[in-house]
Amino acid sequence: MIQFEIATKTYNPQGVPVHALRDISLSIEEGDYAAVMGPSGSGKSTFLTVLGAMNPPTSGRVIVDEIDVYSLSHERQADFRHEYVGFVFQQLHLLPYLSAMENVLLAMAIARCPKAEKHRLAREALEQVGLEGKESRMPGELSGGEKGRVAVARAIVNRPPILLADEPTGNLDQATSTQVLDLLRTLHEARQTVVMVTHDTHAASYADHVIHILDGRIANGQSHAAG
Ligand code: ADP
Ligand code: MG
Repeated sequence: MIQFEIATKTYNPQGVPVHALRDISLSIEEGDYAAVMGPSGSGKSTFLTVLGAMNPPTSGRVIVDEIDVYSLSHERQADFRHEYVGFVFQQLHLLPYLSAMENVLLAMAIARCPKAEKHRLAREALEQVGLEGKESRMPGELSGGEKGRVAVARAIVNRPPILLADEPTGNLDQATSTQVLDLLRTLHEARQTVVMVTHDTHAASYADHVIHILDGRIANGQSHAAG
């Protein structure tokens, strides 16, 4: 479903090239749950944003469902992202002055459907992550794990085929990160394709397989880290 074809990404801050991804070729099947592991600065977030049509590779191609993502116009890339990709950021990026419900509704701002339908879908997504009854809570009135679940609800509300999460448990303690990991696992069991970046072997153990990235290269596509 997702294919990287010799994709590279080189950033050029102040004219000094940084090779964030080097010749990445891999495929991720529909319904897969892949964890991406590697040291800080190894290219994990770059990998995820290139995969999610948010960050064009310097060379190579990203093919999703036979769509050559970066050959699309900017406008079609935005449509692609909206239709295909849900993203959970490490910092969650919940707006503090909006309720859980309003934070989820934000993800549907450009969706072409009636307001009542948007509300129904947002309520359904919050229910799916176990937050029914808490729709009108402000982020400050939710626990860390609940905030993480609002971020997941926002990512899945448009029913994207691909759910991407960048260290979704990075700022959570053990108990609350388990809530988020259980939720991602449950979504995966309902056939959601999930790609999760993590530096935590425990979190990675929830995935079906681990992609190790080291210095912008795939170090090993299958097994778990030695420690
Ligand atoms: P990770 O998520 O594994 O920590 P990143 O993908 O964020 O790694 O970064 C990989 C490398 O690319 C690092 O050296 C980082 O400093 C660099 N990098 C990431 N984003 C940018 C950017 N927007 N501009 C310049 N360099 C960047
Ligand atoms: Mg990162």
